[in-house]
Amino acid sequence: MAKRALIIGVSSQDGSYLADLLLEKNYEVIGTLRRSTNYIHENIKHLYGKINIEFADLLDFESIARLIRKHKPDEVYNLAAQSVPADSWNMPFYTAEISGVGPVRVLEAIRQFHPESKVYQATTREIFGNIEADSANEETKFDANNPYGIAKAYAHMMTRCYRESYDMFTCGGILFNHESERRGLIFVSRKVTAGVACIKNKVKNPPMNEAGEPLITKDFKLHMGDLTTKRDWGYAKEYVEAMHLMLQHDKPMDYVIGTNTTHTIEELCKIAFEHVGLDYKDHVVSSQTFFRPTEIKPLKGDYSRAKKELGWKPKTSFEDLIKLMVDSDLEKFK
Ligand code: NAP
Repeated sequence: MAKRALIIGVSSQDGSYLADLLLEKNYEVIGTLRRSTNYIHENIKHLYGKINIEFADLLDFESIARLIRKHKPDEVYNLAAQSVPADSWNMPFYTAEISGVGPVRVLEAIRQFHPESKVYQATTREIFGNIEADSANEETKFDANNPYGIAKAYAHMMTRCYRESYDMFTCGGILFNHESERRGLIFVSRKVTAGVACIKNKVKNPPMNEAGEPLITKDFKLHMGDLTTKRDWGYAKEYVEAMHLMLQHDKPMDYVIGTNTTHTIEELCKIAFEHVGLDYKDHVVSSQTFFRPTEIKPLKGDYSRAKKELGWKPKTSFEDLIKLMVDSDLEKFK
């Protein structure tokens, strides 16, 4: 019989790739959306009719409990969150409610109504915050320094708590940044690749940036934050494979998923602009408006445990990832 998976937050970058992967593996896929007056979800347009859509909100315990009782899923992937670290300073209560307490609503609904479900919780590298280290693994201490990372650290520890207290199969995937053609425009990698496409194609009506202004100015400038910031960036399509593998393992564990390399935002800009024959120095402006109140130090994701136990490793290079995102945005923003 086909396995049944519930993806909470299927409209997310990761949710859409995970649904693709699970359909390929002949799963029955149920994906949740939030009730809204706008049902345009670009990332999952190709999935309509192939997955079962349900409505749930991480703020509402009953909306999740109802789905667990109704579908009794074999696997539950909680990908929903207030997922924008930069916004979390402006919305600390909301971020805590959705990204911190929300996952506990999922765990508790499963504990009460179908404790046999295997659970994946989307943890983030932001739980390590600003620690002084070259790389982090599953044993690295948490030192989150923004409301998003702190909320996610709580959810991660509760995921572990449910595993240890109730013998439930729960895994926390500590994922470093991962990007793709489906990444939200508010995130730095996509901001750059969409900006490059809009500049190259001389787009008159560019999309909005995170400050609610046009992504590129009339004189074809792209306003960014701190260009020296470093991140470990991988390809989202490969990271969802790791999520699935975690739930197929014989023992529930937490895993770090990353590439064990870092690059600056300046390198990201250089690759993206060069790919279309432009020099980023002519277009990119580092603007204080887009600096975070506190930054995090460069940190590499040591994925040794995932490699050893799950046979997972990253495949797409940083350069190829940025190029494929630029190519996709050149098509999208004409
Ligand atoms: P994303 O594209 O930013 O999507 C976030 C999802 O959460 C959307 O589907 C959104 O629904 C949903 N959501 C927000 N508030 C909700 C609520 N109250 N109830 C139900 N759903 C809600 O996320 P992503 O980048 O794919 O990341 C997936 C998960 O991994 C997130 O939890 C994120 O924090 C975590 N993570 C991401 C990265 C990364 O680099 N991408 C790294 C580490 C961890 P709408 O479509 O309705 O807004």
